[in-house]
Amino acid sequence: MDKTFFNGLGAFETSFSMIKLAENNEKENIFLNAGRGNPNWINTQARLAFNRLIEFGIKDSKRTIDMAEMAGYTTKKGIAQRFEAFLEPDEDETDNFLMLMLDYLRFDLEYAADDVIKELVDGAIGNNYPEPSRVLPYTELIINKYLESTLYDGEKLSEKTKVFPTEGGTAAIVYIFNSLKRNHLIQPGDKIAINTPIFTPYLQIPELSEFDLVEVYIDSDPSDKWNIRVDQLDKLADPDIKAFFIVNPSNPASTAFSDEALAAVKKAVESNPDLMIITDDVYGTFVEDFRSIYAVLPYNTLLVYSYSKLFGATGWRLGLIAVNDINVFDKRISELPQDMLQRLRNRYKIVTGDPSDLPFIERLVADSRSVGLYHTAGLSTPQQIMEALFSLSHLVHRYDIDPYFLATVELIDQRYQDLHKALKFPGDDSRENAKYYSLINIYELAEKKFGKDFRRYFSTSFPHNDFLKNLAEKNGVVLMDGSGFGSREGNLRISQANLPTEDYYLIGKQIIGLMKDYYEEYQEKMASK
Ligand SMILES: *Cc1c(COP(=O)(O)O)cnc(C)c1O
Repeated sequence: MDKTFFNGLGAFETSFSMIKLAENNEKENIFLNAGRGNPNWINTQARLAFNRLIEFGIKDSKRTIDMAEMAGYTTKKGIAQRFEAFLEPDEDETDNFLMLMLDYLRFDLEYAADDVIKELVDGAIGNNYPEPSRVLPYTELIINKYLESTLYDGEKLSEKTKVFPTEGGTAAIVYIFNSLKRNHLIQPGDKIAINTPIFTPYLQIPELSEFDLVEVYIDSDPSDKWNIRVDQLDKLADPDIKAFFIVNPSNPASTAFSDEALAAVKKAVESNPDLMIITDDVYGTFVEDFRSIYAVLPYNTLLVYSYSKLFGATGWRLGLIAVNDINVFDKRISELPQDMLQRLRNRYKIVTGDPSDLPFIERLVADSRSVGLYHTAGLSTPQQIMEALFSLSHLVHRYDIDPYFLATVELIDQRYQDLHKALKFPGDDSRENAKYYSLINIYELAEKKFGKDFRRYFSTSFPHNDFLKNLAEKNGVVLMDGSGFGSREGNLRISQANLPTEDYYLIGKQIIGLMKDYYEEYQEKMASK
């Protein structure tokens, strides 16, 4: 095969080029793209609730102006009561949820009902600039409760955490790199640690490569079920390491930090107390009793979260950055040399009277709109309200199991089991395995099915992407190349999120089938020698 086929392309771009091959596959199999992480499910309840908020909001807006297709604005006084009267909880499941939500906001959180309903309704309608810029006030409180309930494993941090909702986790990542750079928190030549394999953007972001950063890899590998290697976490104790970038549970390996790994990071930070940790916990809810590194080291950690995967909301672009009120980012800024601080005061002087004390999270907001447009920097209010509603759809269950969470976990588990059954590979049912993705090593598979000699032939006779390309071209199955994520060659990522459940057994069979084709070719070659 053409060795240059994949050269220089990122894992996601390679995947696009293979989709074309797979659609016209030689065996005329159905085309199966298990490369992407985009889920094939959606959360219905919060979406229907969003609709109802708009319907109510328009009705309420007509109380002030009602001409042609024009209405006025909602009125705050008595809005919660009018909303309650509008709902028909006995007739409609969505209205029932909205009643539960109202009770939760009023009685559990003790929020002023008119204030919070006004924020939700106006936000959904989208008739005002996002104000304050960073986040709407009740939306922040609600998101904080959600993060606490899902990611902190019992640590009470919701009242000590600030949130900046962003255009997906994607924007969160971009903003973080940009502001770390703008504020001199990461400088050329600095050492940063990354847990690999990792979601490709963390390896590819030009902000980083421009900097000639020295990357220190902290690996996980299949010999330990893709758990992060605890012995390697000692590396973080070196104060020369400025930052540690983590995806937890990881992507592509889909494995959460174990309690031992969390303890090892905590211990390393005792020797490197100013370590900046950036953790991306997008897959946290797929692990039972998940514990974010933010819950273990709140002072050191910036948290990235996204609603995309769990709620099937990639098109909405709903993500966020969260940071503790007292944090190492602010401390490091305060300790910069005077000339840098002076330049930063100039940079941010239009944002606040005293830019010296401007917290890092507000700098993120300002930088996201090139400072000059700080006053209109916030995420669109309908997006913010959608984040609040997704959060509330979970929070109304209080301490009970959330049936939606359970359904997503059961669905991907089924697909994971089917795939492994077809491959006759033992699965990993440990708590840390989020099962959102599987990484299958084709060399191990070759050895397991057809022995060591075949493995040697197979791994030395073909470029590592040959199998991946043939799987698309001949069998019609698209997977993603794990080596693009910094994992070893030969690891293929299969997403359990984006195909109908019955396809996962088929994918396993196609992988085995192609391996057999290679084996037959090998046997023929051996025979003709
Ligand atoms: C999918 C994914 C994201 C992207 O999230 P969006 O909210 O869709 O932009 C971020 N981080 C990781 C690790 C992901 O897998």
